[in-house]
Amino acid sequence: MTAPAESAAPALPFLPFALPEIGDEEIAEVIDTLKSGWVTTGPKTRRFEQDFAAFLGEPGIEAIAVNSATAGLHLALEALGIGPGDEVITTTHTFTATAEVVRYLGADVRLVDIDPATLNIDPAAIEAAITPRTKAILPVHFAGMAVDMDAVLAIARRHGLKVVEDAAHALPTTHAGRLVGTLDSDITVFSFYANKTITTGEGGMAVTRDPALAARMKVMRLHGINRDAFDRFTAKVPSWYYEIVAPGFKYNLTDIAAAMGLHQLRRARPFQEKRAQLAALYDALLADLPLILPPRPAADEVHSWHLYVLRLTDDAPIGRDALIEALYAAGIGCSVHYIPLHLHPYWRARYGLQAAEFPHSQRAYERMLSVPLYTRMTEDDVRRVAAALRRALQP
Ligand SMILES: *Cc1c(COP(=O)(O)O)cnc(C)c1O
Repeated sequence: MTAPAESAAPALPFLPFALPEIGDEEIAEVIDTLKSGWVTTGPKTRRFEQDFAAFLGEPGIEAIAVNSATAGLHLALEALGIGPGDEVITTTHTFTATAEVVRYLGADVRLVDIDPATLNIDPAAIEAAITPRTKAILPVHFAGMAVDMDAVLAIARRHGLKVVEDAAHALPTTHAGRLVGTLDSDITVFSFYANKTITTGEGGMAVTRDPALAARMKVMRLHGINRDAFDRFTAKVPSWYYEIVAPGFKYNLTDIAAAMGLHQLRRARPFQEKRAQLAALYDALLADLPLILPPRPAADEVHSWHLYVLRLTDDAPIGRDALIEALYAAGIGCSVHYIPLHLHPYWRARYGLQAAEFPHSQRAYERMLSVPLYTRMTEDDVRRVAAALRRALQP
């Protein structure tokens, strides 16, 4: 058989949408953990928590390692006393984990629309959704660009509401020159899921300045076990003694995962720099196409560049679905962040939601796609994606 002339060049390998970057140091640390015999929560998890608090760089912040950001968000709302009858306001333009944790506690979710410029929760929409039942605001730093936290925190102060930041995309991200995790919200939660800016496979971190919230999250992270209770009565806790003070959860991080995290954390800044370089190259290569490019933060702010989200303009020659098909045909993986919560059967039915209530999220969803952006990509990979977009959009 002879190959047709036009296929003389070998097909490029598939470019996945996301890939973690795990180096020799992570691998050696995991092997060391396995050989140590301490495979569940132990000294490396403790060290990871200390390193994380040090990374944030402000005194008085406690970091609590958990086995996912979902777990951390659940613990955060539980520690704040959210329960049946309460409402928590969050964005419809997020992953379901942000909102499902509110339902775990029997409280209700008030989904609100986004600012079409940033795709972040719209502070005016938050204010309009507040009722006497509202207890907390749960902003998400979409794609790794900070929410206008000055506005969110001002609303919270005015109405006596708690604030928990979903910072699953936001390591490292700054707002007004301060790292997310050091702002004035009650609790901030990071994710180390496989495709996030640093990864432990599965994992997360809740951070807070409030010692009482930290103590509650630590107790509830592991079965409601409290060893401090004994301290009040005796100088020394026998190693075998503990008390159960609540029906807690099983949300602790393993030392195997923390072993990865110790080294991933040290690479968080170089990883961000690489992502920012690749994002800037995309910006330059795509500027003349019928696309709305991702919003850029002010020059002195850090964007984590977890995601590179494009939107088709009205004069684009093809729609979003066809564009994603064209990219797949060119061997390029892509994704959509997100199918808004108001379109999912559970959330739609639970709260009787209509797309017309969320016009900015709905419109963004219909025209958006996320293209690959991760540290293992080369500039040639970015050029390849940009060329495929150009072929599809300038036929
Ligand atoms: C990934 C993600 C989560 C959940 O993180 P896990 O660590 O997988 O539980 C929550 N919120 C947002 C916005 C996310 O992207």
